[in-house]
Amino acid sequence: MGECIYFAPTEIGEAVRLLAEYREKVTVVAGGTDLLPKINYYQLKPEVLLHIGRLGLDYIKEADGKLVIGAATPTSKLASNPLVAERASALAEAARQSGSAAIRTTATIGGNLANASPAADLATPLLILDAELLLTSTRGNRKVAINDFFVGPGKTVLEPDELLIEVSLPHQKGKSVFLKLGRRKAMTLSVVNVAVRLEMEGAQCKDARIALGAMAPVPLRCTRAESLIKGQVLDKSLIDRCAAEAVAESSPIDDQRATSWYRKKAGTVLVARALARAADMEG
Ligand SMILES: Cc1cc2nc3c(=O)[nH]c(=O)nc-3n(C[C@H](O)[C@H](O)[C@H](O)COP(=O)(O)OP(=O)(O)OC[C@H]3O[C@@H](n4cnc5c(N)ncnc54)[C@H](O)[C@@H]3O)c2cc1C
Repeated sequence: MGECIYFAPTEIGEAVRLLAEYREKVTVVAGGTDLLPKINYYQLKPEVLLHIGRLGLDYIKEADGKLVIGAATPTSKLASNPLVAERASALAEAARQSGSAAIRTTATIGGNLANASPAADLATPLLILDAELLLTSTRGNRKVAINDFFVGPGKTVLEPDELLIEVSLPHQKGKSVFLKLGRRKAMTLSVVNVAVRLEMEGAQCKDARIALGAMAPVPLRCTRAESLIKGQVLDKSLIDRCAAEAVAESSPIDDQRATSWYRKKAGTVLVARALARAADMEG
């Protein structure tokens, strides 16, 4: 790895001061589960490592009616926390299906988002839950809607001197569902993942959110598909049309995990299944 300066500050003020001083030279480390393989395989040679595990950003709480999650909260806590289960069940399910027990203990929610993989499992549930991200720097704080956070594979709106410190979720009505297809049952990145939230009144869909992972350069909100079912009485044929529309909004690639053709086929089935489950219309 060569010469590298390592900092592990205990205050956010000190962390952002270091970010402002070293800017592009700094690599933030949270759990290191995305970062360390890149360092080990010489894809990344950091000059300055800034560990954020001692900043007190590991928390899950309720504040002003919102569910608020610190950026350094490990995925294992999202999987087991009762507040997350009650208020954001799709996020809890995505956390449970992410990595392995060892990875979940180390991997953080902030790292999953800042890494900006199109397949990041926690991104799609946060998209359907209208999450807001809090970024900080020596210039102050700013809030970014998760829908505006991802710019491309591995790219976000984070400036070199900014740290993601918190994820907050407004209180949401309706039922949320997360489904993931990987090349095996566990310990694998998504070939495609789907998150759906539906607010139903009887068979009528009052509001809808649909998001797809690993189907575009960024985790994707499928707004045209959402419009198709908002205000409509749902039946199997409308659900199938909506699933086809969601996939029509995507632009999956061929890679080592699957072809674009397979992702579209599997994505259509997964969206339809998630919609039926969220609308209590399964079986
Ligand atoms: C074996 C294995 C299995 C995996 N399985 C899955 C899976 O099933 N699903 C899945 O989605 N992912 C999976 N991953 C990827 C990884 O575990 C997750 O993306 C994890 O959440 C990353 O978090 P981290 O804290 O380890 O991030 P790190 O590796 O520490 O950081 C990742 C990136 O984010 C930046 N960063 C981290 N925190 C912040 C912050 N607060 N502010 C600004 N920048 C920040 C870092 O600089 C780095 O660029 C797997 C990884 C491995 C090694």
